[in-house]
Formats: sequence, C-alpha cells, structure tokens
Amino acid sequence: MKGTANVRVQGPAEPILGKLLAEHGLDEPPLWKSRPPETKARMARWNELGKVRDGEVNPVKTEITALAAATEELKQMALDLGASVVGCAELKPFMVAKGSDLPHEYIFCLVVGENYDVVLNGPRAVETESTSTYVECAEISTKLAEHVRSLGYAAMAHHNGGDDIMALPALHAAGFGELGKHGSLINPEFGASFRPGFVTTTMPLALDEPIEFGVQDICMKCNICANNCLAEAIPPADEFVVTEGVKRWITDVEKCYTVSRLREQYCHICVDVCPYVHMVNGDEHRKDVYKQYMGQRKKVGYRTPAWWPDDPPAGLED
Ligand code: SF4
Ligand code: SF4
Repeated sequence: MKGTANVRVQGPAEPILGKLLAEHGLDEPPLWKSRPPETKARMARWNELGKVRDGEVNPVKTEITALAAATEELKQMALDLGASVVGCAELKPFMVAKGSDLPHEYIFCLVVGENYDVVLNGPRAVETESTSTYVECAEISTKLAEHVRSLGYAAMAHHNGGDDIMALPALHAAGFGELGKHGSLINPEFGASFRPGFVTTTMPLALDEPIEFGVQDICMKCNICANNCLAEAIPPADEFVVTEGVKRWITDVEKCYTVSRLREQYCHICVDVCPYVHMVNGDEHRKDVYKQYMGQRKKVGYRTPAWWPDDPPAGLED
C-alpha cells in the first residue's frame, strides 16, 4: 500500500525547522545538545530496534479460524508486554507516509501511558519520561511483530527507531480517542499523556471503531491549552478543518518550533495542562497533581515557560 501522508521528518532536515535554525545561526536544536546520557541511551536503544523492525516470515502459516479470538490473543500479549491500551484498524494510505509502500492490510496500534506526576519536576523530567515510554513502545511493537511473523504473516514494527506511520489517523481509526484542540489525541484513560507504537501486518485482525466521548464539544469552549502555549500556536476553536471526515485543529508548527525546538527546554505544556488527564477517568491522584501543576503555572503566569527543577522562575523557588 502506497502512503499518502505527509509525515514530518525530525531534526534539521524538516524544512520549517531547518529554516528556523538557519535564521538563528544554529546547526541543531539546542535541546539536543543538553540531553542527559540516559536519554541518549534510550535513543540508541530504539535506533537499535529500528534494525529489526522486519524479518523472516515462518513459511508455515497458522490458519485463523476465529478472528475475534486471535485478535484478542494478540491484544492480550501486547498488554502483558506492557501496553496500556490496544486497538486495531484497517490500514489506509492516509495512515502511511508518502514514499513508503507497505505490503500490509491491517494495523495493530498500542500506546503506553506516561507517568503524569513528572510534570511537577519540570521539562527535563517530562522529556525523560517520554523517551523512556517511547523505548517501551519500541520493545513491545518489535516483540509483537516477531510473534506475528512466527505465525506465518508478514509484520513490521513502527516506532521511534523507524516508522512509516502517521500516528494520529491510525490511533483515531483504532478507537483510542478524539483529537483535541492542542492537536494531540485524547484518550479517556490517559488524556494525551501517552506514546504510541504500531505493527502493520497481513494477519487479519478484528477491527475497532473510532470513539467519541465529548472531547471536541469541550474543546469548543475550553481554551486552557491555547492560553498556556507560549508560542500562541494553537488556533481558536472555530478554526478547525475536516480531514477524511474527522474534525481537527492544526497547530501552527512554525510558531510552536520557536519555543519547542529553539529553546533548551522540552515543551509539552499544551498536553500537560489539558484536564483530560483526570477528567474522564476520575483518577483522584492525577487530579491532585494536575491542581498542583496548574497552581504552579498560575503563580508564575500561565504563559511562563516550563522550568528546570534547579532553575525555577521567580516566585517558585520554594
Ligand atoms: S486543554 Fe481544553 S481545549 Fe485544549 S485540548 Fe484539552 S480540553 Fe481541548
Ligand atoms: S509544544 Fe509548547 S509551543 Fe508547541 S503548541 Fe504545545 S505548548 Fe505551544
């Protein structure tokens, strides 16, 4: 299947980022220079797993006689390996990157939820949590793809170490959640605090359906993410588009990059301030952490940058 999705490349090769870096006389994002060794080690691990995304398929095929049961078995395996939520969809060209051609018909999606408590420790902690979660996604998707190939079906893992998938349309189709105004997918259990991994395959899968639980109605009235974005990159509620029948808001990438790529601090603020991290799941602990975090943001001004734990802005010293 030939892909039609415009997936953004990472780093200076991305045209908008390349232009911004050149304008500021930089050869790479400052954030990259300040990454701690543990983050670099995690990146090395997902790059290593990127070399074994695909492999030999067992020539002896296991016939699937009960589709729902076979899919459930695969889902349970992913959950046992550490996935938080799993779902399946038919693979469509708009989920596949332009320039990629995948000989698969189905996509198995998984996400691993992040520990929201780290927001209280600043952007370095948020970044560390995200890279650690990405490694888990890479490990799980690699093992699942291996398993599917052992059943006699072609399968390829997609994760930070190498992927051909546009994450949001795939996750949406597989029933993980609704697209929020901050541009990320909101899941009822985790809000947008999760990271994904995928397996595309020829193995037939029982399909899940998109879900709705009122997010986009709330986004029409809620402005928390937009009001906290330093770059003013999140559009007003009425400036949405509809793609493949799905309503979504498009973040102004150039504005976002001026904060999220040109500073030494990781920026994940739009996701971290979204109340869906506790609003549907009723998690009292996360609600308490959310209140503390938003209390800190209120104290220093909502559009204040996130802070380093050892360099808090005035008013948050202790
Ligand atoms: S913060 Fe509010 S407007 Fe932004 S995505 Fe979350 S619910 Fe929607
Ligand atoms: S990552 Fe930061 S700068 Fe970019 S849209 Fe979100 S809050 Fe704004």
